[in-house]
Amino acid sequence: MKILISSCLLGEDVRYDGNNSSIAFTPSFTFSIKELFMDILCENEIYSFCPEVAGGLPVPRASSEIIKNDKPFIVKNEKGDDVTINFLLGAKKALDICKEENIKVALLKAKSPSCGNKQIYDGTFSSKLIDGQGLTARLLEENGVKVFNENEIKDLAKFIKTNK
Ligand code: SF4
Repeated sequence: MKILISSCLLGEDVRYDGNNSSIAFTPSFTFSIKELFMDILCENEIYSFCPEVAGGLPVPRASSEIIKNDKPFIVKNEKGDDVTINFLLGAKKALDICKEENIKVALLKAKSPSCGNKQIYDGTFSSKLIDGQGLTARLLEENGVKVFNENEIKDLAKFIKTNK
């Protein structure tokens, strides 16, 4: 199966702070989850993608939050710059790849204003989480791509097994 995966989860240093969120090297993930993740990587066709970099933002960059989470969306970074266009462009490019390659499932980083599939920060830069989706996760799901986050690897494995 073809799977789009957030580049930072694969260990690429694309996060706003210049680091990554590698599942393989994060101590809080159990060995069995890491093993399951590695099996998924080995047995499927992986497309690494970072919407924020694809949308033209640099690494490192100021962290961003979604200020207005419905159309027209507004995303700003902590310096107050409007980066909405970068986030929309990254989301569009992610969808383009999914359409071109017939990708039906994605594993995206939780809580990100691009990749988060269930929660995002509330737009006040005060570390407060609310229910909601990042712009890429939202656009993919609106177009039929099933999105999981890194805390749902067992669910992703079940999805792959069922939809092979
Ligand atoms: Fe990771 Fe997504 Fe943020 Fe890129 S945009 S660093 S892939 S969470």
